[in-house]
Amino acid sequence: MAHTGYDAVICGAGHNGLACAAYLAAAGKRVCVVEKRTVAGGAAVTEEFHPGFRNSTASYTVSLLHPKVIRDLRLVEHGLRIVERPFANFLPLSDTDSLQVGGGLEATQREIARYSKRDAECLPQYYARLERVADVLRGLLLETPPNVGGGLHDLFNAWKSGRKLNALPMEAKRDVLDLFTMSAGEWLDRWFESEPIKACFGFDSVVGNFGSPYSPGSAYVLLHHVFGEVNGKKGTWGHAIGGMGAIATAMRKEAEARGVEIRLGNGVARVLASRGRATGVVLEDGTEILARCVVSNAHPRVMAGWLAGVAEFPQEPFAHYQSESATLRMNVALSELPDFTCKPGKHLQPHHQSGIIFAPSLDYMDRAYASAREHGWSKAPVVEILIPSTVDDSLAPAGKHVASLFCQHFRYALPDERSWDDERDAAADAVIDLVTGYAPNFKAAVLGRRVLTPLDLERQFGLVGGDIFHGKLTLNQLFSARPILGHGNYRMPLAGLYLCGSGAHPGGGVTGVPGHNAAREILRDGN
Ligand SMILES: Cc1cc2nc3c(=O)[nH]c(=O)nc-3n(C[C@H](O)[C@H](O)[C@H](O)COP(=O)(O)OP(=O)(O)OC[C@H]3O[C@@H](n4cnc5c(N)ncnc54)[C@H](O)[C@@H]3O)c2cc1C
Repeated sequence: MAHTGYDAVICGAGHNGLACAAYLAAAGKRVCVVEKRTVAGGAAVTEEFHPGFRNSTASYTVSLLHPKVIRDLRLVEHGLRIVERPFANFLPLSDTDSLQVGGGLEATQREIARYSKRDAECLPQYYARLERVADVLRGLLLETPPNVGGGLHDLFNAWKSGRKLNALPMEAKRDVLDLFTMSAGEWLDRWFESEPIKACFGFDSVVGNFGSPYSPGSAYVLLHHVFGEVNGKKGTWGHAIGGMGAIATAMRKEAEARGVEIRLGNGVARVLASRGRATGVVLEDGTEILARCVVSNAHPRVMAGWLAGVAEFPQEPFAHYQSESATLRMNVALSELPDFTCKPGKHLQPHHQSGIIFAPSLDYMDRAYASAREHGWSKAPVVEILIPSTVDDSLAPAGKHVASLFCQHFRYALPDERSWDDERDAAADAVIDLVTGYAPNFKAAVLGRRVLTPLDLERQFGLVGGDIFHGKLTLNQLFSARPILGHGNYRMPLAGLYLCGSGAHPGGGVTGVPGHNAAREILRDGN
């Protein structure tokens, strides 16, 4: 059966697909969104994982969601509320020592001065220099990257981007160059001498990035995590009440209010093409949806799979597209809060409301990476825990808690033909044991858990290779080269086919930006 008359069919109801649909509908377009899963939101979703316990399933903390998207899509009016955490991070370091970062510059300086007075003094300048480069990145977010091989319009775009960079003082230009190319470890070694503070800042460089903090390019991943804001406070991370699904739910409400049709539980099997142009899609059950343009919200390699056999579509560059994060994601239902040896007490304290990082030094992270390269996953992994129920009582029964654990480095492909289906529980146990080493009541407090290995992320969310960002955030896959050189402007190598997901500029994260920008380009083409 064929459904016709649409201006656009959007393949995937991830938050970027929903955002793109809402922007197109606002311009009067007739839009149909088709989604494989039975729930909208993609990696921004809240689900019950243990009876009575709900949590964000994949992404778990918010900062990068663009303020323009929040405003344009009326997300606050649709119920979205984002709360800040009292402290950004808490790092248990030993049985007696920990580092707490956040709560204002002076408080952080006082804390850091316990390790190095010099580091505490450097901190304001470090923040200012990083912020200046983050501002450059912010200035590029809503821009369509100039397309390599494009025409006058792209030359103008290139000139506009270049002009912004050129206006910076030389010191900032050098910082831009360094942060886009260097390793986070080398960048941080320049600024600080104490290991705990380098670990706290360096953690961002390995999140979703299978690499050492000393791998070239990891400084960019660090930067990618600081361009956001929460309630106007730049660089901070917060919690969406109700979990990350609240973001997608608010977007969905706005999209539907604007007339978007959303069909769940029936994925795209292939893209229809005629005379070198995308004309619609065939769903898994054989339904055809015909539209003036086809917009993929899915991972670029998933999209390429829908075009197998379409002669005009070049498969090779997509086959080479790099996609692996090496992360394991776990939710646990807890009977009580972790009682840290270094900061005792099961009663709610500010450190329970922080991003709790288990990785005391950059060397530790480097070893976690090396061990995953050798064994497939690290027995001493890098782990962050957030306990969102400490700031949101809608997620767990009274007195109980839910925790999000985000764990690096767990490779997608295990050596010696080992399978994640056999090792899922062993890996999850290793993570729980690691936390229990710092908080002895943790293991016994776990009432239930849901574990997502990289293979599960691929199977359940279509994240090829388990890549949380829809492809590595490396220089060869950023800006004009995202997802591939020659197609950095949301237009894919088939007329009428667009990309609106995280595989497009500016890459991964719950930002809404690829959806926003892609809609603009689709409208610009007169679809
Ligand atoms: C474990 C994990 C932790 C993360 N943590 C954070 C975090 O804390 N903060 C943050 O900002 N970002 C985080 N991220 C990254 C962020 O979640 C993603 O970059 C972002 O949600 C991607 O949004 P998207 O709309 O581009 O794509 P997706 O959310 O991936 O949506 C794509 C949609 O396409 C659908 N699809 C796939 N195949 C088909 C098909 N054949 N037919 C129809 N539909 C299909 C998928 O089911 C999905 O709904 C995390 C990601 C993961 C996986």
